Amino acid sequence: TIQTPRPAIRTTCPYCGVGCGILATPDGAGGLAVAGDPAHPANGGRLCVKGSALGETLGLKGRLLAPRIGGQEAGWDQALDLVARRFSDTVAEHGPGAVAMYVSGQLLTEDYYAANKLMKGFIGSANIDTNSRLCMASSVAGHCRAFGSDTVPGLYEDLEAADCVVLVGSNLAWCHPVLYQRLAAARETRGTKVVVIDPRRTATCDIADLHLPLAAGSDAALFNLLLAEIHRRGLVTENPENLAEALAAARATQPAATGLPRGAIRQFLDLWCGSTRVVTVYSQGINQSDSGTDKVNAILNCHLATGRIGRPGMGPFSVTGQPNAMGGREVGGLANALACHLDIQNPAHRDAVRGFWNAPRMASAPGLKAVDMFRAVEDGRIKALWIICTNPAATMPEADRVARAIAGCDFVVVSDIMARTDTARLAHVLLPATGWGEKNGTVTNSERRISRQRRSLAPAGQARDDWRIIADVAGRMGWGKAFAWTGPAQVFAEHAALSGVAGALGGDFDISVHAGITAAEYDALEPFLWPRSATRRGGRFFGDGRFHTPSGRARMVAVTPRPPQPLGKAHPFRLNTGRVRDHWHTMTRTGLSPRLSRHLAEPFLELHPQDAARLGLAPAALARVTSPHGRAILRVLVTDRAAPGHPFAPIHWTGETAPSSRIDALVGGLVDPVSGQPASKSAPVAIRPF
Ligand code: SF4
Repeated sequence: TIQTPRPAIRTTCPYCGVGCGILATPDGAGGLAVAGDPAHPANGGRLCVKGSALGETLGLKGRLLAPRIGGQEAGWDQALDLVARRFSDTVAEHGPGAVAMYVSGQLLTEDYYAANKLMKGFIGSANIDTNSRLCMASSVAGHCRAFGSDTVPGLYEDLEAADCVVLVGSNLAWCHPVLYQRLAAARETRGTKVVVIDPRRTATCDIADLHLPLAAGSDAALFNLLLAEIHRRGLVTENPENLAEALAAARATQPAATGLPRGAIRQFLDLWCGSTRVVTVYSQGINQSDSGTDKVNAILNCHLATGRIGRPGMGPFSVTGQPNAMGGREVGGLANALACHLDIQNPAHRDAVRGFWNAPRMASAPGLKAVDMFRAVEDGRIKALWIICTNPAATMPEADRVARAIAGCDFVVVSDIMARTDTARLAHVLLPATGWGEKNGTVTNSERRISRQRRSLAPAGQARDDWRIIADVAGRMGWGKAFAWTGPAQVFAEHAALSGVAGALGGDFDISVHAGITAAEYDALEPFLWPRSATRRGGRFFGDGRFHTPSGRARMVAVTPRPPQPLGKAHPFRLNTGRVRDHWHTMTRTGLSPRLSRHLAEPFLELHPQDAARLGLAPAALARVTSPHGRAILRVLVTDRAAPGHPFAPIHWTGETAPSSRIDALVGGLVDPVSGQPASKSAPVAIRPF
């Protein structure tokens, strides 16, 4: 028989913030053939190994296929009634602050919007935070301090137009592989200089002209030295607010603080100052720190002083870890934010959103950020908790403590695609959600490009879309009219209309041209950069020297570098945590592909040869790693990629996949005071043979 070829469906990769376009072709047997979409601006047909293996990660293995109450299968009506009743009763008895939602940068924008609308406009609490708090909250806070808005100024093509690209705390080769491929290709053709600033010699160093293995946590000191040098060379061309104060702080910084030889620092200063077209890319090595926001601002300061921002080949560039961290920011997914980049602390902004939503109970203050939220769960202030699309019992700092807190909570709802996760195990109610391939909506990548994720497979079992589950609960809580969407296009249209309100208030996020989008237009929506309104079309921000501060000027921040928390005798090693090339988060999807597990098959500890010798640990031996918060057993990988005293361990394994090797059980709850982002790159630990 001759089979009719099925058309490919244009969709988006569910993994990292590069946001690659994918052509997914149903094979007629419940699977998909996956290829890069040559027409998508983010990847032009490229895919990394994770994206290209997506077809191997589908199927029903491990999926949650029906709602469960107390571990027993239940009907949707029964489960939704129970969730709505328990949330309503808790609010009635203890107030809106007694309930919380913890959501995810892997939700689609429509899901995220629905959750935020329910919590902030109807339940009346801003106790909704996201696992993006662990990922890029310091970038958000740094952007807001410097620009007056959480705006990513540049575009991916700037990495290809730059003469020098500086990568700080970013293992682009493994964590944003297609962006790395684009940079490597540009370097090949244009001779782009690449600088990698990272205590660890990562795979990204393969294309580095200069690798600076600076002392852990000294990034702000290095960029302060750069700012002082910029001034000394007469390269300050702009007049941002706080210029004098920032320069004074920069000049007070000593080179020794970086732990780098003066010659290496000089090379960096020459490269940065000598390249008008310079992009500074930064990621978790900057953000996941107890001084992450200051580090972000130390970087932004250098670009603001020189005007190297928002022009081709120039600018600071925060690359986001998750596929929709940016969409989450747009809907106000953080506890201290409001929809469409509006400010929850600004009464006029709150009133505008209240009016638009016709909200009965608008949150009037920021809610609890992730670490504080789980402390409130622990001490009983939060009595009903809904966790969506994330696994905090494995991935929050102090993961053991967080797991105990969730286990002790009066009422826990978990929406997930998987039946068994560290967190799902603790739920009173489990709600089956659709996963990649089944979901339908939009995501925003690191350069502000909104793309469609399109449904190409039928939902598994009784799984439902997250926006719909949230709307169904909202309806049962008495707010059906405000959540009466019939499809994701209507959610998107409402968000777009609200963005017009925000745009009229001077907000940067504005996609109001789509406020009247129809389902057919939504289906056909091409990837686009925001803003997209009647008067504004996507592109770079700030190249015209106008910012979103009251004065219209950029704001520099005087940064006094702070070293990371000191190590003590009991815990003399500083553990760095991060990703491996071929796995994603807690491996619920990538763990299903044997091919992806071939790269690095088990949890490990990268240890410098000097440390290994001192501890009596041979290659492939097992080490017991302990911190004040937990313990793990890890296979030792002796390598000089890790700096002496600074071992590295990947984050992916959980209680389901390697119960003795949960890395976030070792990480403490220390957070950046501005952003609330945990210092996940710097956990004091002890190591000994197992
Ligand atoms: Fe997916 Fe990121 Fe790989 Fe692109 S680079 S295919 S978005 S994981």
